[in-house]
Amino acid sequence: MEISQDIKKRLFDELDSKKEEMVSLLSRLIAYPSVKGEPSEGAPFGLPVRRCLDEALSTLSSWGFATECHDGYVGTAELGEGETVLGVLAHLDVVAAGDGWTGDPFTARIADGRVYGRGAIDDKGPAVAAMFALRAIKELGIPIKSGARLILGTDEENGSSDLAYYFKKQSPPRYAFTPDGSYPVINIEKGMIRVSFSSESQPCPGGRMLLWLEGGAAVNAVPGSAYALVSGVGASEVIKSSQGLFPGVEISCKEFEGGSLRIDARGVSAHASTPESGKNAITALLGVLSRLGLEDGGSKAASRLSSIFPYGESDGLSLGIKMSDRESGALTEVLSLVSYQAGRLECSMDIRLPVSSSVGEVKSRLLPAIEGAGFKIDSFGGTEPHRVDEDSEFVKTLLEVYEEMTGDRGSCIAIGGGTYVHELEGGVAFGAEFIGEDNHMHSFDEFISIDRLVLNSKIFALAILKVLNSGRL
Ligand SMILES: [Zn+2]
Repeated sequence: MEISQDIKKRLFDELDSKKEEMVSLLSRLIAYPSVKGEPSEGAPFGLPVRRCLDEALSTLSSWGFATECHDGYVGTAELGEGETVLGVLAHLDVVAAGDGWTGDPFTARIADGRVYGRGAIDDKGPAVAAMFALRAIKELGIPIKSGARLILGTDEENGSSDLAYYFKKQSPPRYAFTPDGSYPVINIEKGMIRVSFSSESQPCPGGRMLLWLEGGAAVNAVPGSAYALVSGVGASEVIKSSQGLFPGVEISCKEFEGGSLRIDARGVSAHASTPESGKNAITALLGVLSRLGLEDGGSKAASRLSSIFPYGESDGLSLGIKMSDRESGALTEVLSLVSYQAGRLECSMDIRLPVSSSVGEVKSRLLPAIEGAGFKIDSFGGTEPHRVDEDSEFVKTLLEVYEEMTGDRGSCIAIGGGTYVHELEGGVAFGAEFIGEDNHMHSFDEFISIDRLVLNSKIFALAILKVLNSGRL
């Protein structure tokens, strides 16, 4: 439905007039260091998280909204009387502050037209923008045909157990958007698989052999560093057999007295959903080891591992799982963690599968490949890909609003990572980062521009109105 120019003007004027109030509320929310902490009664993710949720809910109820706190996991506020067709999901928990900040990360700093502080863009700023969007619609008395629910969660950064808890008891709204990603609209999220596997061999005493191997920091990251300890091998041998073979990874050696040699591989770390922007130090190191002609069981296992994870490959070709589709692109895989000692080699990997595929399909090809290389599967877990039809009225409505408000062409995007609505059938990510912007999410000096804060609020308000008043949804 078209929203009249008059209504839009009143709405946008109203939100413009609330700019200072938005900044002030955001500053209050930033002041809670709502990093996941020790659970206590009514505070499953720690007291600061619960207090931040209470602050948001008491603000909403002071504006006249019916609110509810769901055991400290999720807080909700209702807009309108009709059937709730739309959910707007934002979260109030944040990642740890980390280093490098100009000033205290939990004291909002206003400078250069921006609000700086942990959570400014992820996701307290967008939560504030959504709160004011609801408020403006309510206070201006703009008619709506159905209802919307603001869902404020508290565990997005650590696995979204908040939503799992909430949706066990409440039925999900037919449509949902979360301003916890980027514009225009993220409608496709790849599926994800995590596998751990291992092999055992008899450690043979003495001679040319692998003694130790360690690499990677997290299962969802391209490993930026790895090292091995070998015996009976000279540094020059390593350098000769690795020269030019692992572009982007630096191989260095250190000889120890007694005949052992430490081999270090230094690559480039990256998120597992974008392995093309990293350089895998583990697969390079495995490549080095497999070229040394070592005969012990551990080295042989490392060579077999290298044969299914050759350096430079992240499309699963050697695992027999290479696949792609037009909508979401190629499957990606990362061997992200390895460790070897005393005959036991342990590995973990991360896979992002395209939307046309399924966990079962990839599993049926992957496990035989890993087992065929002599490894035993220790654990397997997967999440199916997520998609909302880009031609659906809901997505088209959000894209229309985006185009109208920014003047840019709106089209859907697919990502390898998962957002807050991955498990919600009708859920997409909508904002709050604009294309080409870097708001230092999860990093130091995270910020949101005050103009963008207000623009986000206008975009959400218009989107909510259009969805609630659409006769086609
Ligand atoms: Zn977030």
